[in-house]
Amino acid sequence: VPHDIDPRRDDGHAPPYRDPRVPVAARVEDLLARMSLDDKIGQMTQAERLEAGAPDVTAYRLGSVLSGGGSVPTPNDPVTWADMYDDFQRAALATPLGIPILYGVDAVHGHGNVVGATLFPHNIGLGATRDPALVRDIGAAVAEEVSGTGITWNFAPCLGVVRNPRWGRTYESFGELPELPIAMTSFITGLQGPRVGPRPSVMATAKHFVGDGGTKDGDDQGDTRLAEEELRALHLPPFLAALERGVGSVMISHSSWNGLRLHGHRYLVTEVLKEELGFSGIVVSDWNGLDMIYEADAFGPAEVRAAVNAGIDLVMVPEEWRRFIGTLRAEVLAGRVPMARIDDANRRILTKKFEQGLFEHPLTDRAYTGRIGGPEHRALARRAVAASLVVLRNEGGLLPLDPGGEIVVAGRSAHDIGMQCGGWTISWQGEPGPVTAGTTILDGIRAAAGPGATVRHHPDGRGVSASCKVAIAVVGEEPYAEDEGDRPAGMGLDPVDLDIIARLRAAGIPVVVLLVSGRPLDVAAELSGWDALVACWLPGTEGQGVADVLFGAAGATGKLPVTWMRSADQLPINHGDGQDPLFPYGFGLTYPARP
Ligand code: BGC
Repeated sequence: VPHDIDPRRDDGHAPPYRDPRVPVAARVEDLLARMSLDDKIGQMTQAERLEAGAPDVTAYRLGSVLSGGGSVPTPNDPVTWADMYDDFQRAALATPLGIPILYGVDAVHGHGNVVGATLFPHNIGLGATRDPALVRDIGAAVAEEVSGTGITWNFAPCLGVVRNPRWGRTYESFGELPELPIAMTSFITGLQGPRVGPRPSVMATAKHFVGDGGTKDGDDQGDTRLAEEELRALHLPPFLAALERGVGSVMISHSSWNGLRLHGHRYLVTEVLKEELGFSGIVVSDWNGLDMIYEADAFGPAEVRAAVNAGIDLVMVPEEWRRFIGTLRAEVLAGRVPMARIDDANRRILTKKFEQGLFEHPLTDRAYTGRIGGPEHRALARRAVAASLVVLRNEGGLLPLDPGGEIVVAGRSAHDIGMQCGGWTISWQGEPGPVTAGTTILDGIRAAAGPGATVRHHPDGRGVSASCKVAIAVVGEEPYAEDEGDRPAGMGLDPVDLDIIARLRAAGIPVVVLLVSGRPLDVAAELSGWDALVACWLPGTEGQGVADVLFGAAGATGKLPVTWMRSADQLPINHGDGQDPLFPYGFGLTYPARP
């Protein structure tokens, strides 16, 4: 390997790959020609930040580091994050060729890894807005906040088409028909800008390729059993739209298609995605995606070979990255993984690093750090929350509520930032409680109810007097993520929540139910006793957006992005399947903002 030129020396003889005036393709070829097999395998390896230290990045020439959802404890504040990023990046720059790393995070509803970041509604709520321009603006705001910690790669958006709300990732989907994920690929344009480029452009990831939302019984990481024609009609179109928007990376799904794991699926990954659709960016594996290829729950040479030969370019091997490197090396030396495949993967990875300007500006631009959780982004999130609400029932035009009077607010999600943010918030699963900064729905109601109003917080619905004009019950689901959120059994409200609502009803005053959940819940049996029902999804940090619609500062405009079942027995139930839903896809009562 020619290391005759020290690329870090700028003595007028810097090699072409270090020269920003040279076209990217030529820089890539120049650099590739200088790389050893170990350099190349390192580029294809992504380790978890807690499993690889900065010295490992230098020693093994790791191409990428991630903070996975399961990565706790996170360094919470923005400056610590940026410092950590810069440490990893400096370690990469200290390698002989000085190739910067790509650092990836799951900023799936805002930079949920950082305390104080602006958190937007999860995707299902954004689907309900039916407003691609709003979602594009959210992408741009997320790019700024992620840039504030140096990071240049986001594992979002999820373009899964959810076909069964039992799936624990239902809230990560924009909707049950491809039209919504297609429209919301505008997020990619917001996040990356017109193309992958220097900060605040952050590379997007279209995930999870392909069919993640169509598994049997809605099992996370399950099997999508469909004829190819149906797979192409239902699950592929959002990826086509993402490619048209120049998405920089595509993540492979943990799920299978007709019994074969996507992580080893050469036909779908190489023949369809790369050759037929012409995807020229990075194909990244999912977390420990190798392990499941042959149902062994571990990887060995066969899995490494299958994944890389299937067309995966960058392999997310959070813990077992050392073993991955050794295994891939042996497979290449034995001729079982062609060198041409290794070079193709490296070209794709290096191209994005050059496009991002990482060789010229590898470290955090601290100008963006101060944008994290800033007022403009919070105002945007508040607007998104208001647009995402779907009014499902409104007896006698109770909503929007008149200002003034005595208002009772109850329920476990009324005054709890963690509950309203859901999963992927500070920790992978999320959790109830004051996990980050924001405005709760109760805070929002207090601010919106008007000077003449008295807002009483009775969390469990006890002790409510009949003199109150209305009770607002804020109930729903506790946070969860991925398979932890799969609901193979009941889809109803928690008995605790039902009791709270029953106590409010017993006071003989009108009851408004605000559902804070990642999906439709089975409410048909209770609905007739509720005066109003609003699906709030998982709104994020700006609870004022909920109050805006409740009191008419904003109109009610959201439309269901999924079909709402009449009973869990109907599942799966989808638009056009001939079943009789409680509320159809696209349903939503509306009213204008108060003048
Ligand atoms: C999820 C991905 C995520 C990755 C990294 C996986 O478990 O399926 O959506 O991007 O972890 O956190």
